[in-house]
Amino acid sequence: MSTPSLLILPGDGIGPEVMAEVRKIIDWYGAKRDLAFEVSEDLVGGAAYDKHGTPLHDDTMARAQEVDAVLLGAVGGPKYDELDFSVKPERGLLRLRKEMDLFANLRPAQCFDALSHFSSLKQEVVAGLDIMIVRELTSGVYFGEPRGIFEEGNERVGINTQRYTESEIDRVARSAFELARKRGGKLCSMEKANVMESGILWREVVNRVGQDYPDVELSHMYADAGAMQLTRWPKQFDVIVTDNLFGDLLSDLAAMLTGSLGMLPSASLGAPMGNGRPKALYEPVHGSAPDIAGQGKANPIACILSFAMALRYSFDKGDEAARLERAVEEVLADGLRTADLLGEEGVAPVSTAEMGDAIVAKLEASL
Ligand code: NAD
Repeated sequence: MSTPSLLILPGDGIGPEVMAEVRKIIDWYGAKRDLAFEVSEDLVGGAAYDKHGTPLHDDTMARAQEVDAVLLGAVGGPKYDELDFSVKPERGLLRLRKEMDLFANLRPAQCFDALSHFSSLKQEVVAGLDIMIVRELTSGVYFGEPRGIFEEGNERVGINTQRYTESEIDRVARSAFELARKRGGKLCSMEKANVMESGILWREVVNRVGQDYPDVELSHMYADAGAMQLTRWPKQFDVIVTDNLFGDLLSDLAAMLTGSLGMLPSASLGAPMGNGRPKALYEPVHGSAPDIAGQGKANPIACILSFAMALRYSFDKGDEAARLERAVEEVLADGLRTADLLGEEGVAPVSTAEMGDAIVAKLEASL
C-alpha cells in the first residue's frame, strides 16, 4: 500500500503553534507505530496572501485535491481586516471547502470528565457526553437562488432560498449513516418538516437511505425540539444529521455543551476518491486567536483531536485515534491545563509545547 499523504496548512496566528504540536504526534506515529505519512506543508490565509497576494495559491489548491487529507490550523487576523473581500484570509478556506466539494461537516461534542465543570450545564448532564453532529455544508439556504436584496414597491426585500435536491440530501445522509454504523448505531435526523417543504423531502430521502442501513436505529426530530433536547439531555443522541442552517446553529450549541473552544475538532468530508477515502479537511473549530498568538498560550488539543479524526475517518485507524484521544484524556485527568482551561485554584498553566509533549509522553506510555 502507498504511504498515506497529508497536506498541512498551519495558516495564521496560533495556527502554526498548535500545528507544531500535531507534527510531534505525526512523527511519533511514524517512529513508534509504523504509521508514516508523506507530509507536505504549505501556506493558507494571511500567510499565503503575504507571499503570493492570494489566500490560497493554485498550486496549493491542486495539492489539496491530490492528498488523502488536509489538516488546517486557522486563518485570519487584524492585519488582514482591511483587505478586499476577494483576498481575505477566510476566502482561502472557503475555496478549499468549495473546490473539494466537502458536503459533510462533522462536529463532535465530546466532554472529557476532567473538564465537565466547564460546561454551563449541570455536570451529570454532560459528563461522558460523546455525540456527533453532521451538518450539510455546501447547499441549503446559504447557497440557494434567488438570493439578494431587491426593491419591491416602495421598500426593499431581503431574500434567501432554502433549496435541497434529493441527491444532496442522499449523500449527506449516507455519510451520517456510515458514521452511526462506526459509532453507537443511532442516527437522529433534524429538519422542520412541519413547516418547510424542503424538510418534508429531507425526511423522505433520509428514510429511503435508511433502508440501506437496517442496523442503524433512525429517528426524526423537528430542529427546534432538537435544540431543546440537546440542552435537556444531550446523551440521548449518538449521531445527528441536519441541513446547513440548522446544523450551523445546532453544532455551535452542542459544542458549547463541552466548555472550551480550544478543545473542539472538526472534519469536512466530500465524495470518496478512487482509493475509497473521502476528500477530507480537518481543522480545529477555533480561529487564529490573535490576542494570544506567539505567546505559547494556545491550547493545541483541538488541532490534535482533529488529527485523531483524520486517523479514524481518512486512514481507517480507529484504534490509533482512540489511543490519541485517551492520551488527551489522561493529561487532562493528571491536571495539566493550558491557560484557557484554568479555573481551578492553585493550578499553573502549561504552555502549548508542554501540552503537546505531555500528550506524546502519554502515547509513549501506552505502548
Ligand atoms: P478565535 O476562535 O480566534 O478566538 C476566540 C477566543 O478564544 C479568543 O479569546 C482566543 O484567545 C480564544 N481561543 C481560541 N482558540 C484557542 C486555543 N486553541 N487556545 C486557547 N484559546 C483559544 O475567534 P475570533 O477572535 O472571533 O477570530 C480571530 C480571527 O480568526 C479572525 O480573523 C477570524 O476571522 C478568524 N477565524 C478563523 C477561523 C478558521 O480559521 N476556521 C474560525 C473562526 C475565526
